[in-house]
Amino acid sequence: MAFPNSTKYLIVGAGIHGLSTAWHLARQLQATGNGRGEDILVIDKTAIAAGASGIACGVIRNNYFQPAMRELMAHSVSVWDSDPEAFSYHPVGYMQISPESMHAGVATIFDQQRAIGYESIFIEGKDDCHNYMQGLFSDWQAQGITSVLHEKRGGYANNTKAIYGLAGKAEAEGVRIMTGVAVTGFRRGNGSDAVTAVETSKGTIVCEQVVVAAGPWAKQIWDMLELPRSISIKGRDGHMHHDVPMWVYWCLEEGTLGIDPEIQKTNDGEMPPVIHVDTDAPLFSDVDGSLITEDMWGIYYKPDFNFGGIQGGAAPYEVKTPPDEVAVDPYGVDSPDFIVGDEFAHMWCSALAHCQKRFSGQIPRYKNEPSGGIGAFTPDSFPLFDRFCENVYIIADSNHGFKMIGVGALVAEELCGKHSSLLEPFRFARYAKGELHPVSNSPFPWS
Ligand SMILES: Cc1cc2nc3c(=O)[nH]c(=O)nc-3n(C[C@H](O)[C@H](O)[C@H](O)COP(=O)(O)OP(=O)(O)OC[C@H]3O[C@@H](n4cnc5c(N)ncnc54)[C@H](O)[C@@H]3O)c2cc1C
Repeated sequence: MAFPNSTKYLIVGAGIHGLSTAWHLARQLQATGNGRGEDILVIDKTAIAAGASGIACGVIRNNYFQPAMRELMAHSVSVWDSDPEAFSYHPVGYMQISPESMHAGVATIFDQQRAIGYESIFIEGKDDCHNYMQGLFSDWQAQGITSVLHEKRGGYANNTKAIYGLAGKAEAEGVRIMTGVAVTGFRRGNGSDAVTAVETSKGTIVCEQVVVAAGPWAKQIWDMLELPRSISIKGRDGHMHHDVPMWVYWCLEEGTLGIDPEIQKTNDGEMPPVIHVDTDAPLFSDVDGSLITEDMWGIYYKPDFNFGGIQGGAAPYEVKTPPDEVAVDPYGVDSPDFIVGDEFAHMWCSALAHCQKRFSGQIPRYKNEPSGGIGAFTPDSFPLFDRFCENVYIIADSNHGFKMIGVGALVAEELCGKHSSLLEPFRFARYAKGELHPVSNSPFPWS
């Protein structure tokens, strides 16, 4: 394809959000007679699925303490449900298994799931939880559990296959996808903030609308657009907090236990739901019985033929390096800084054994290969979906987002002039106004 000098819509990033936006926008332009897929160009500095979307565990759940997140996720799950084959989506369900400190919070999630018609079951009390879990897995033995939320929808999708499925759908609508083209800067109009052209490693592209879906590289594009590096936030305490860095990085820790995924089938021989356990029970080493932690800990896992074993992760950690100095590239498994090590393998495999006896003694089969990766988080760890510089739409999901395949559909509606109430709680102005999302007692920054 010849390098295009202009396009009506330029989308930066061929991950879940860039490609979902491209696909939905093409369909909406065609449906309304306002354009066609050929008006949309997606560029990516590396390749389709080269970012976080290509390494994500791929878990899709509704379990969020924040009502706005739940409603958004319910919308996204309906997009996953629309074509499981193309998205390599496994609708096996999802379970949030929690200690007493999270009981009341998860109970409100269940109530609100019922209110929005999202099917789930809620089990309360230590014995009932244990019996329910043993009904699924006869070797269940996790301690400190007093509630189980079993979401019947959601599950997981195979990361790169899902993204290629989206790319195929976008291209079928006429969208052009060019890889190996990196955004290096933006040109503005005379006396206006609006972007008139995007400078890239291959040349300048004149455009009318820009969509930025750069995942972990959100800060780099943000800086190129000369948006504020630090912001003021009206906190939950009612006070203004100034000079809060706009972006911080967290490192996601994930890995795979290289055993037959079939081992994790349920008592009925079915593929099981994705399991997420948080507990305050002490965690002991499955190798030598030593204490790993007495603090609250959490893990998630699923049998996954794509990863070749039991795949999952534990709570991420905040990267303490100043955000300007964090090396996002090389990304993912190629990063020398942000891949998991022996400590993660020991903790995660011991935690698996804490939950189910079948995993005890299996740590030697942990796959010793690079995994994990970083994400760019907003100041409140919730997504930012908003328009900046008049014609630049930024989709920055604060690392919540592989599951959020539907956000592109809503952004496409907004690009076509229709307001989305589901996206409204995620505007930039919420920081100054103090319209922050409630926070849960989970050890994860994204629950
Ligand atoms: C290890 C890990 C596990 C995760 N697990 C889950 C999970 O189970 N469930 C879940 O919902 N979420 C998960 N996430 C989060 C999820 O992966 C991300 O939130 C989501 O994939 C972000 O999608 P995106 O389209 O915004 O960005 P990406 O998929 O990162 O795509 C951005 C693209 O932009 C391109 N790009 C960057 N800069 C430029 C530039 N200057 N010019 C041109 N192109 C550029 C990159 O090459 C990249 O391909 C996980 C994240 C990680 C790191």
